[in-house]
Amino acid sequence: MFTFGYSPVMNLDDARSFAQHSQLEEDRPALRRIARASALCHHDLVQCLDASSFIVRSQNEPDMQYQVVSGEDSYQCNCPDPIVPCKHIIACR
Ligand SMILES: [Zn+2]
Repeated sequence: MFTFGYSPVMNLDDARSFAQHSQLEEDRPALRRIARASALCHHDLVQCLDASSFIVRSQNEPDMQYQVVSGEDSYQCNCPDPIVPCKHIIACR
């Protein structure tokens, strides 16, 4: 079970089934990213601007926010995370 503060947000099985559903890796870092993405949604840090763009605020740094844009068949995020999809993109999905 992953926990964030006092609220358990997503357990490992949920993260794994999301990974399978979204055709993501199922290794530990990937599952942790999914759980963090779930936390972003849980804390209302994902804001939908229109059908294809989102603002995701940072959980650790409230002043930071990233923009996620969905294209034809892929998402793009302007955060420094080199791993695609990053947690922001997963959260938007
Ligand atoms: Zn990102």
